[in-house]
Amino acid sequence: MIWIFLGAPGAGKGTQAERLAEHLGVLHLSTGNVLRKAVKEGTELGRKAETYMKAGNLVPDALILDLVREVLTGDAPNGCILDGYPRNAAQAASLDEMLSDVGEEIGAVINLNVSEETLVTRIAGRAEAEDRTDDDEETVRNRLKVYGEQTAPLVDYYRGRGGLQEVDGEGTVDEIEGRIREIVGARAGGAAG
Ligand code: AMP
Repeated sequence: MIWIFLGAPGAGKGTQAERLAEHLGVLHLSTGNVLRKAVKEGTELGRKAETYMKAGNLVPDALILDLVREVLTGDAPNGCILDGYPRNAAQAASLDEMLSDVGEEIGAVINLNVSEETLVTRIAGRAEAEDRTDDDEETVRNRLKVYGEQTAPLVDYYRGRGGLQEVDGEGTVDEIEGRIREIVGARAGGAAG
């Protein structure tokens, strides 16, 4: 089963996706983490992605498609958590195709909702704690804009198909994790414990 996290930059997707992956014992695929590693290591993917990321824009879909397909067809026999993918309508359509090819289903699409004030506070904290070159003010503003224009419409896309779960992303990390576990436990038919 595939679990998808949606939410604006700073909504807490990465933290919660990592915790849920550990809880379920499945792979956590953060396309942002894969890309940041590629940039650091100076691979071909990293070199192609870097300028887009620095500006807070999405990298071209083609760069992401192969890495997601590789994981879905090979590395994730027990399913996986998708964190940062899909990010636009074309990616959501590609994902549907890939899932139907490998016979996997979406368990739930978890949309983390937080206020703008919380987003800004969290992103500012993260910029200090981690070395993210895309966390400066101008880039963050563009990432929020890109999210609103390209990724937020996916909330309606998945709502229309059922399986969208709205989760209150305010509160402590443990509180939010508890809310997500309730949903996942119910959707996974109790297998999640
Ligand atoms: P994230 O850590 O998920 O916020 O991703 C950081 C940056 O990586 C984004 O601002 C994009 O430039 C790029 N990125 C991550 N995932 C994707 C994706 N699915 N499609 C296009 N660009 C992505």
